[in-house]
Amino acid sequence: MNYKFVPSVCSYCGTGCGVLFEVIDGKINSTLPLKSHPVNKGKLCIKGWNLHEYINSFMRLKTPLIKKDGRFQKATWDETISHTAKNFTKIKDQFGPDSIGVLVSAKISNEENYLAQKFTRAVIGTNNVDHCARL
Ligand code: SF4
Repeated sequence: MNYKFVPSVCSYCGTGCGVLFEVIDGKINSTLPLKSHPVNKGKLCIKGWNLHEYINSFMRLKTPLIKKDGRFQKATWDETISHTAKNFTKIKDQFGPDSIGVLVSAKISNEENYLAQKFTRAVIGTNNVDHCARL
């Protein structure tokens, strides 16, 4: 059995509490507070204690989906990126960059959230970016 703790940051809100993921044989099993972290000093709220649960949820999407004929259908990443780029470009050309808004998620990493806001501002050209923790 491979057993280890991996430090990370809770992504559920902007406080940024330090956590330790308990990983057994490559699967995140539980979340513990990081005692040495300057923000939370060994404490977590109820959301932080349950940070690992969505990672292994059966409801989690494992492949991209594209809506075709009114129904979501599985697609490859190449198809999805191409479809999204084509439609973002079309909307931006027709209505301007501020006609697009991006909502990111607490259920991705802080680094992924950073990339999403960078993409929104630098590539699309709008400040219309927000995070579900503020909704
Ligand atoms: S543990 Fe609670 S307070 Fe800390 S970052 Fe996560 S959601 Fe925010």
